[in-house]
Amino acid sequence: MKKIMTNFIATPSRTQAIMKEHRFSVKKSLGQNFLIDVNILTHIIDSAGIDSDSNVIEIGPGIGSLTEQLALKAKKVVAFEIDQRLKPVLASTLEPYDNIKIIFEDILKADIESIIKNEFSPGEKIHIVANLPYYITTPILLRLLHDKLPIDTMTVMMQKEVAERMAAKPNTKAYGSLTIAVQYYTNAEIVMEVPRTVFLPQPNVTSSVLHLDLKAKKDVDVQDENLFFEIIRASFVHRRKTILNNLSVFYKEKITKSDLSLILTEIDIDPKRRGESISIEEYAKISNRFLKIL
Ligand code: SAM
Repeated sequence: MKKIMTNFIATPSRTQAIMKEHRFSVKKSLGQNFLIDVNILTHIIDSAGIDSDSNVIEIGPGIGSLTEQLALKAKKVVAFEIDQRLKPVLASTLEPYDNIKIIFEDILKADIESIIKNEFSPGEKIHIVANLPYYITTPILLRLLHDKLPIDTMTVMMQKEVAERMAAKPNTKAYGSLTIAVQYYTNAEIVMEVPRTVFLPQPNVTSSVLHLDLKAKKDVDVQDENLFFEIIRASFVHRRKTILNNLSVFYKEKITKSDLSLILTEIDIDPKRRGESISIEEYAKISNRFLKIL
């Protein structure tokens, strides 16, 4: 047992040895910071609720640190990696495991829906678990959410401030259009903060693990999602302005400021409030009302 423990990829010595053996040097531009602490990985995997029935999609396996721990607990792991240089590395580090499939594609371009259909049985639960490349955390998560893929949970490591924005409550500095986009689809919870010291090389920022539970049924009724998200973006263009001022500038071709004020009042939203004080339910109410007039 001791021998297996010390042989895990996610240790400083093994990670360094793998990189040396394959003459692999990290690319900062791809957000390559590898985890070198098995305890952190175990915590992430436990927070994701992974067991022997779980199907997992990992984004960015790197040299396989998280992938290995996932393979030990899950039924099957499908991982997307953009860096072709990692092909021989992963073929060697993950060679002992027969429940892993690595797809060398950009997660932003891959046909994830078809891959899910091909790799997993219909109706089975699918979990995303990843130590995300920080330079594209938001585009990746928004793509996965907007595409309405059959995913049950996402447990993902990212820059601490981004996790705080995704899990924020109204009336806080972190609450904004990203918060609403994420919480429209999911219940979001920060699981833990992760220090820089558990990565090789160390990133410049502190990280957090965010757990997102996808809502099987949305708790707000939105009749036109495009309009809903447009209104939300418009409401946060100038954070310090009132919702009336932000929306009247954005929709100046379509509605007068005084009509806008009347409509907001009619649906019990004080026009002097700021975007950051307005809940998801209230944005749904605004967009459903605007649908009738814009
Ligand atoms: N999972 C490994 C770990 O925890 O040690 C590596 C995580 S590292 C923070 C991010 C990984 O994502 C890198 O391996 C990088 O090459 C990969 N990556 C970056 N952009 C990507 C993209 N668009 N699609 C798929 N993988 C990507």
